[in-house]
Amino acid sequence: MEQQQANLFDRHSKLSYLQPAQLEVWIKEAIVRSNEGEVASYVPLLAKVDRAAFAVQIRAIGGQIYTWGSEAQTFPLMSVVKPFVLLFLLCELGEQTVFECVGCEPSELPFNSLIQLQKDGGKPRNPMINSGAIALCSLIPGQDAESRCQNLLAWLNKQANSQLFLDKLMLDSVNSVPNQNNRNLAWEMARSGCIKNPEIALATYNRVCCLAGNIGDLTKLGILLANSPQPAISECSRTVKALMATCGLYEASASFALRVGLPAKSGVSGAILAVIPGEGAIACYSPPLDKQGNSAGGLLLLEQIAKTLKLSVFD
Ligand code: GLN
Repeated sequence: MEQQQANLFDRHSKLSYLQPAQLEVWIKEAIVRSNEGEVASYVPLLAKVDRAAFAVQIRAIGGQIYTWGSEAQTFPLMSVVKPFVLLFLLCELGEQTVFECVGCEPSELPFNSLIQLQKDGGKPRNPMINSGAIALCSLIPGQDAESRCQNLLAWLNKQANSQLFLDKLMLDSVNSVPNQNNRNLAWEMARSGCIKNPEIALATYNRVCCLAGNIGDLTKLGILLANSPQPAISECSRTVKALMATCGLYEASASFALRVGLPAKSGVSGAILAVIPGEGAIACYSPPLDKQGNSAGGLLLLEQIAKTLKLSVFD
């Protein structure tokens, strides 16, 4: 596996306490932990990924980076895109419009639960679960799924200086096995009046989940939240980080807040992103997932880095 040496992190940053040799020990432990997880199998192409793939990058707001593993490896964001759909819409449409459409409370049932949605009268509990993200996709400006996804992609790449792209093969694979569960969520929200066009919302959601990039693109997205370049984005990113901290890892969010204490978001591809407000971002890609659908190795690694460097926002 390719390995890169860190530029030294700014000595005023908590990240400067990071010791590459120590990090490598944790990475090995995380790889062992990942063996206990299962790769998502409901999308044929996700089922075929190399379960041993592993990449981690730590990026400071000053631009210094530490990467371990393959920097070239690209992967779909899947649910890691959700905070960025939220950020885009908060910036473009404002809080009122967004929170008329989705709630802001943590959920207690799995990320794709129809029962949770029904319990809540057809209004999604928060933007980090599937129903919430599908509802938000119904608000993205654009005539159809393609133009909506393109609008989000262009905005993100501009703001984050990233090179995300649409993974068309992954999208074909997602579309090859219609996800009845997400379909039920969309139609339940159409019945409750929460969204107007469930087909466009679903198609947009499937596309934005297939936006892909490498580990460097992921930390660049994290930096957008850690240290937004413009005051207007900074205002919106405070809301996004709060929702990541409370809802980003689904039912595991509360215990993650205790153990790690960083706003984070995971996806079924095995990507996970944690934001260190005012300091930087840590991203990990390791496909095997734990029972809650979070990267098993990624979670362990984040926990060890955050504990040792005292990165918790509650420290
Ligand atoms: N596209 C995926 C789905 O709807 C995203 C879910 C996830 O990453 N947790 O199932």
